[in-house]
Amino acid sequence: MNIDGLGEFGLIERIREGEGALPRGIMGIGDDCAVLPQRKGYKTLVSTDLLMEGVHFLLEDIDPYSLGWKSAAVNLSDIAAMGGRPLGSFLAFALPKALDSKWMDDFFRGYRAVSGLCSAPLLGGDTTSSLDRLCICVTVLGECEDGHEVLRSGARPSDKICVSGTLGDSAGGLKLILGGLSREGAGERLIERHYRPVPRVAEGQRIAACGATSMMDISDGIGSDLRHITRASGVGAVVRVKDLPLSEELLSQSALYGWNARGLAIDGGEDYELLFTMPSDALRNLDIPYTEIGEIVPGEDILWEGASSQEHKGFRHF
Ligand code: ADP
Ligand code: MG
Repeated sequence: MNIDGLGEFGLIERIREGEGALPRGIMGIGDDCAVLPQRKGYKTLVSTDLLMEGVHFLLEDIDPYSLGWKSAAVNLSDIAAMGGRPLGSFLAFALPKALDSKWMDDFFRGYRAVSGLCSAPLLGGDTTSSLDRLCICVTVLGECEDGHEVLRSGARPSDKICVSGTLGDSAGGLKLILGGLSREGAGERLIERHYRPVPRVAEGQRIAACGATSMMDISDGIGSDLRHITRASGVGAVVRVKDLPLSEELLSQSALYGWNARGLAIDGGEDYELLFTMPSDALRNLDIPYTEIGEIVPGEDILWEGASSQEHKGFRHF
């Protein structure tokens, strides 16, 4: 059945039924607003992201499970980037009438899989039809202890610059998709990194607790994302390009297709790893896997030590 037959309320009912029990004291889908308790000594974190067909994803290529996953994941990643604990999400979408209910069910399986991983139930949203493209807007709510939110503006000279995970995999995956290249073996892993990024929620909380001075998630590539930290903090940076963490999969596919793996790690977007700064004595206590890639320095310039170019823009919409 296509969703036109299900109707707006039929679809909302289906979404509501698919949600499990909510944590005590939280009211989700079904009324005019969701209702959440307010905790003393905590701050609320809120963030919204829009995913537009043709701009952020190609409906012909991405499977509905991955699209549901990615819609929730890129938003939950913003809560992770503050060192916060996710509380829930809101999903508003404009749906082309031709989508069928199987497509919707698969979308929600993906959405719930990552929401479940992050303990962030779907608490509400809005549903309309679209004359043309599919548009998905997700809002996430989270919380953190008052004063423990990690901003972009706290980096200080001599802090170490670090990242979680590996960089460039998602960009490699996108190259395989757009180039119609093999999706076997290492390729499969890169495409998974592109379609199903894992929000680093637990890592973000550990990094915050350990005393990070600044943090953000890497959505456009560190080439432009690190700029956000240095500008907000009024500092410069030196990045050792040879120390950027690259996966075996990205290295093998880069060797095969002649890609510049380090270039992808700098300018390729959508890794959704965490980029953070921390004084070196605090860093010694950090008990999650991370890679130190450079240092904050006085000034305002970023030196990409060992890079073929100093011009790094990352992904831009305009
Ligand atoms: P309203 O007219 O007040 O916007 P709706 O009829 O649009 O109410 O929505 C009814 C309930 O269903 C609300 O609780 C809303 O949050 C929820 N809802 C609507 N669309 C979605 C969706 N796509 N995902 C999750 N919840 C939804
Ligand atoms: Mg509505």
